[in-house]
Amino acid sequence: MHDVYHSSGRHAKVTRMRVDERCRSASNERIRLAEYWPRDDNGKPNGSAAERGMEKVAASASMAAGLLQGRALLSGEVRALLEGASVPVAGASWSEAVQLAALLGRVRLSGAVAAHGGGRADARRRSRCLRCGSGEEQLRRTSCASCGRLCAYCEACLTMGRSRECELLVLGRYEASEREAGESSICKVLPVKERLEKWGLSPAQHAAAAEALRFVESQPLYNRGSSLRHHAQSHTPHLRNGQVAGTGIHPAKESERQQQLQYSWWRNWSVRLLSWGAPLAAERTDIRNFLLWAVTGAGKTEMIFPLVDSVISRGGRALIASPRRDVVLELDPRIRRAFPDARVVTLYGGSEQRWERGEITLSTTHQLFRFQEAFDLVILDELDAFPYHGDPMLKYAADKSCLPGAPRLLLSATPPRELQRAARQGKLAHARVPVRYHRHPLPVPSLVSAPTVKGMLQEDKLPATLTKALRSSLSRGAQIFVFVQRIAQAEPLAALLRRKLQCPHVDATSSQDPDRAAKVISFRKGEIRLLVTTTILERGVTIPRSDVYILDADGGLFDEASLVQMAGRAGRSADDPRGKVYFFGSERNQSQLQAVRHIRSMNKMAKVRGYLLPVYTKKGARA
Ligand SMILES: [Zn+2]
Ligand SMILES: [Zn+2]
Repeated sequence: MHDVYHSSGRHAKVTRMRVDERCRSASNERIRLAEYWPRDDNGKPNGSAAERGMEKVAASASMAAGLLQGRALLSGEVRALLEGASVPVAGASWSEAVQLAALLGRVRLSGAVAAHGGGRADARRRSRCLRCGSGEEQLRRTSCASCGRLCAYCEACLTMGRSRECELLVLGRYEASEREAGESSICKVLPVKERLEKWGLSPAQHAAAAEALRFVESQPLYNRGSSLRHHAQSHTPHLRNGQVAGTGIHPAKESERQQQLQYSWWRNWSVRLLSWGAPLAAERTDIRNFLLWAVTGAGKTEMIFPLVDSVISRGGRALIASPRRDVVLELDPRIRRAFPDARVVTLYGGSEQRWERGEITLSTTHQLFRFQEAFDLVILDELDAFPYHGDPMLKYAADKSCLPGAPRLLLSATPPRELQRAARQGKLAHARVPVRYHRHPLPVPSLVSAPTVKGMLQEDKLPATLTKALRSSLSRGAQIFVFVQRIAQAEPLAALLRRKLQCPHVDATSSQDPDRAAKVISFRKGEIRLLVTTTILERGVTIPRSDVYILDADGGLFDEASLVQMAGRAGRSADDPRGKVYFFGSERNQSQLQAVRHIRSMNKMAKVRGYLLPVYTKKGARA
């Protein structure tokens, strides 16, 4: 049971409404709906004014429900969204529209912080933030200015607005009407092979994309829970009016006949309300995961194009989420170029498209808190990268954004152990892309014995092996990444290298460097030739001609995944596919050996499957 307060401007009277998700009898509905009825000065229901008022509220409710589909928003965010979309609320406040939509079962209302299984949160029962999934350990209780009680709020998702016990969380139900015609369209007619052709994929990309595409299309869009969906539709045939909601057509332009239908439906009170959706905050077991294990530089973006195409051409909605904002910003123009006719919405902290609704949504993982059962296809980029990996809050957000039974593609060059194991044991559908798009093998790291960075700095001396290798990289015109473990070592090492190599174009950066972005740009331009960095640049930064040096490669902060990622910076372009990778360390540890084994096994698989250029096969070598 949740209490909802709303005030009506028209009769300046605060009414109180109780919305119970589980028990809704027809007689109760009549009482609740009657609260919307305008009254004359004597308190009697006002006939024609009432009818006009009801129509307006009904139309606003329908539009609001359409705009809120798949959303999980706090009341202030709902208001911003509806005002931004210019929902006509003449004669009806936005909250009335939302409450009517809730009575019709098209949105669901809940406390933003509530006890497990719904209801009001209090100190005696374990509560949870239903927006980010955080439990008691993230909740704080303060005496609240809005509700006047001791009220719990969530600290974990505070940066996105205060989620608290007396705050309303509005969950918009996904409605499938827009796409039903699309289901039988193009995808069913054209075979997979033909549809993949237009994307110009390499043989390895093609094979993996075909497998992923078959997986995505193995079930129709949003098939689970369809009985519930159709049931709900049959009881609200006219007011649902997905077209009005979906296309944003102003209700005033609708035919009189349509209004008449809405009105007569309205007078019949015959609405049956249904609860819907998966239980909140529960572990999702219905999502269909697919692991796309693609080496660094495999060209994963091109591989997801046909999957996105398949879903949006059937009228569905696709999401591509990355833990990193720069990846989202980089992806934006590529997606818009690939899908010029699709509506693309790009979301990150401060995005102007925050309240827009698209066929393709690009988003940082943090922005997913604002969605609930919204997407027919979810693509999670770099799921092993900080901050996604090991963060239960982001996992919750990524889970709840999926529609029931939706396919979810997990992209990674270095999947976490448990996923690798599940894939090997046949418990996780997957495809491997063992070769880069340019079909050259991955550079295999050379292991070189060397003193520690600390030792080099203390002695003010570089080992001869390192100096020699760096000079040869500089003379072949390569850009050089030098990875170190500690932020404090980056600047002093850069100074030492500058002196010993007699090269002024040496710089250093780390997560604490305010000029990091500018330095990366200079490095890309070749103004900086050698950049000393921490693992902050282990992913994402791609420089065409570059060599990679990892110092203290045996240090505890570098595991197999991060060594493979750093090594993956070399040899990225077709013009310089054989970049050099060195692991410098005082000993060879497990992580280094595993990383080398990982890279070799990918190269071997690429060769066996015939993905490498002919020059790398025996036949080609002889020719
Ligand atoms: Zn929270
Ligand atoms: Zn409160």
